[in-house]
Amino acid sequence: MARHHRTAAILSIGDEITLGQKLDTNSKWLADQLTTLGITVSIKMTVPDDLAALAARFKELAETHDLVLSTGGLGPTADDLTRLALAKAIGDEVVEDAEALSQLLAWFDGVGRKMPEANRVQAMRPQSATCLSNAKGTAPGLHAVVDGADVFCMPGPPREMQPMFERFVVPVLRTDRVVLTRVLPTVGLGESAIADRLGELMDRDRNPLVGTTASASIVTCRIRYEGDDTAEGERRLDETVELVRGKIGDIVFADRDVPLAEVVLDRLRERRQTIATVESCTGGLVGEMLTEIPSSSDAYIGGWVTYTNAMKTSQVGVHPDVFEKHGAVSEECCRAMATGGRERSGSDYAISVTGIAGPGGGSAEKPVGTVWIGLASPSGVRAERFRFNGDREMIRQRSATAALAMLWKAIKEPRA
Ligand code: AMP
Ligand code: MG
Repeated sequence: MARHHRTAAILSIGDEITLGQKLDTNSKWLADQLTTLGITVSIKMTVPDDLAALAARFKELAETHDLVLSTGGLGPTADDLTRLALAKAIGDEVVEDAEALSQLLAWFDGVGRKMPEANRVQAMRPQSATCLSNAKGTAPGLHAVVDGADVFCMPGPPREMQPMFERFVVPVLRTDRVVLTRVLPTVGLGESAIADRLGELMDRDRNPLVGTTASASIVTCRIRYEGDDTAEGERRLDETVELVRGKIGDIVFADRDVPLAEVVLDRLRERRQTIATVESCTGGLVGEMLTEIPSSSDAYIGGWVTYTNAMKTSQVGVHPDVFEKHGAVSEECCRAMATGGRERSGSDYAISVTGIAGPGGGSAEKPVGTVWIGLASPSGVRAERFRFNGDREMIRQRSATAALAMLWKAIKEPRA
């Protein structure tokens, strides 16, 4: 077994991946596991089923990393070249592994079939390598030391690869580093505005490192410590979390990876209050986000999708004059929808959304992306105008998130 495993390379093997027919989920899973274990993944590579290229990649990656993990190419067919490529990279002969062969025969016996002759090749290994038994399929994995690096080759199917990694790779990994992370999801500001506020807290040479990732309208602040001392890491993380909260605490809605809808529902539950929805351009998306969370019914009582003007009038009582004078995408209509929804449902709060999701229907005065979001509450009703970028789907998604954010702001403090 080699030195400490500080750096790792992940090699995903298979034509199906380079041709774009299959998504490489193995490398995502492995990178996540290694990162948690304190090992830095410095490269991920995807290669087709090509013997010479594969052998060259094994050699290069082993020369430059402490650990190389490959998946795929261990099947019984002519395009499964991982064994041969590894042997070529080491400069080894391939030999038949008696133990692997008997396990293969036993596997076929167990499923009541005679082993096809083609599968016999799966018991072959480079002379200096060892086989890793596969509890979930026929392809044994391989372990070899190449240029001082530990190289593990695992089968492609995730359900075979994952248990093999846990059983054979994790126990032999040696790291003297710890990686600890905290996440602070936010809503209400974009990534660049957050970067402005965080300033030098985002310096790349800082430890803990502070970064952001954006998904729809949620920007998550990620704080990562890398070092060799867990207690010291936790202390520094606490300190950095405080500094970050000092700059953006007003928009942080949780201290872990959790949907905004879940936080909103928890707050409502604590306050023993309820919410109803009246949606136009989002067509029920706010309701969908809320009901995606299990047991939302103790806080979300229901709502309406009032798409036409007639429905806005018949269902939540928007006066027809409002459409005449201001249009359906207007502050007046939005406020009337929220007020009507609150009154007719008997909820404490009602959210309303009315806007132009596009691609058609925009004008100079009300361009595509113009959305009014309203909130009726025990202390009155208010509405806010937004202008969202993006295509129809993005505008709808952002509108729904902004609606939840407006509610979250109203209820985030404990009830007086
Ligand atoms: P192989 O071990 O090359 O015979 O791969 C067998 C199957 O495993 C493929 O057909 C894929 O369905 C799956 N597979 C291979 N590589 C990956 C990968 N990187 N991520 C997810 N699935 C994979
Ligand atoms: Mg393959």
